[in-house]
Amino acid sequence: MLNLETRCTAKLTEGSDPTETSSTCVMKIPLRCLFVLVTVGLLVAAPVAFMPVAPTVASPDSDAVGDPPPLFIPPPPSGDEELEPPLQAHIIEYEVQLGDTMWDIAAEYSTDPESLAVINEMENWNRLQPGETVRVLTISGLLHRADPDDTVEGIAERYQIDARDLIAVNHLRPGDELSVGQELILPHARPEQDTVLAARGELFQWPLQGRITSYFGYRWGRMHSGIDIAAPHGTPIEASRAGRVTFAGWRGGYGQLIILDHGDGKTSWYAHLSSMSVGAGQLVDRGQVIGHVGTTGRSTGPHLHFEIRVHDDPRNPLDYLP
Ligand SMILES: [Zn+2]
Repeated sequence: MLNLETRCTAKLTEGSDPTETSSTCVMKIPLRCLFVLVTVGLLVAAPVAFMPVAPTVASPDSDAVGDPPPLFIPPPPSGDEELEPPLQAHIIEYEVQLGDTMWDIAAEYSTDPESLAVINEMENWNRLQPGETVRVLTISGLLHRADPDDTVEGIAERYQIDARDLIAVNHLRPGDELSVGQELILPHARPEQDTVLAARGELFQWPLQGRITSYFGYRWGRMHSGIDIAAPHGTPIEASRAGRVTFAGWRGGYGQLIILDHGDGKTSWYAHLSSMSVGAGQLVDRGQVIGHVGTTGRSTGPHLHFEIRVHDDPRNPLDYLP
């Protein structure tokens, strides 16, 4: 038997060898026998194991026979939250590798890019640079620095999260006072929508500060396809959102006009400019100066006519501005 075993082992390691045929045949028999025995054993044992308890309960003689061994172990009571392990999370410093996107990093740590962008106070996550360090939470959630009047309950309510999770993750005790500036992990807290849009580079900003002198919509029977913002001649105009200049030139009543394409079907239009600082094809950042207020085209005084279009359909810019 010992000899047989060594030969079989040799066969396993050396691969197929015609001379070993007999030994494998010999081995197959006891293995098969064993398998059959186990199978038969299971077939016999299974009905016993699953035999209903009812007959023994129904029979008044069961006590005389003796209590049968317990066949079922009742499951532990469920729904006891105190048995769940406390929520854990920590902060990791991650060095951005070439080709990394926020989606990659978020997926690696089972979180989401919006939260990462907010935690790292990123203005635009498309500008992630290799070698840059990103702070990553190991769960979805945000970070918060405690203000003087902050309490655990207050923070939990403001971010709509579970105070018990907040306590567990930050190793606090109920009733603990928070120290000002203390950094807290807010498990499962979600960033505000505007913050998310800003992080994605999708949030529009005001192109300049000024008084709205004409709103979007019909006025005197004519459609006004944007808003007019009055400002002194020469006031710098900023790109409302990052994008590519698709038009910079003169267009009829618009006068000197810049159109930015933001890549998701949205464009923004800046009209009546006195001067233009960018040219067609150029990429611009959100907040970059692209031109100056003027009164070119059909205009009664210096102002910016500002439009936002979705698939070339003018929309009310006030629906997109903060
Ligand atoms: Zn206008």
